[in-house]
Amino acid sequence: MSRRIIFCDRCGNEGQHGGYTWCRACHSRWERAGRPASGPPPKRNGRVGEYAELTRDQHYTLVNAAARMGISERTAWRYEARLRAAGIPPATYQSGRLGVHATAHAAAA
Ligand SMILES: [Zn+2]
Repeated sequence: MSRRIIFCDRCGNEGQHGGYTWCRACHSRWERAGRPASGPPPKRNGRVGEYAELTRDQHYTLVNAAARMGISERTAWRYEARLRAAGIPPATYQSGRLGVHATAHAAAA
């Protein structure tokens, strides 16, 4: 059975269509989680997914998300780089005072 290739709505990866607007990995995670109305839970490399939810969906700043997750700011920057590499747009913190900070870091990276 051939499946369409899509860009997943949830994780941003290009992959085989699993259902709705999600890739197979996200769709099966969603089924395993009992099909929550909120969609697939964060990916199993879950810390990045958790970080993405905090910064993208809940509008945490990078620093606040790092504090909330108990990770270093440096680790948060690594997550940020992975998200950007996956084509997920930068978080909203870029528009605040922290944006200066963020831009400086991005330029140095
Ligand atoms: Zn996906």
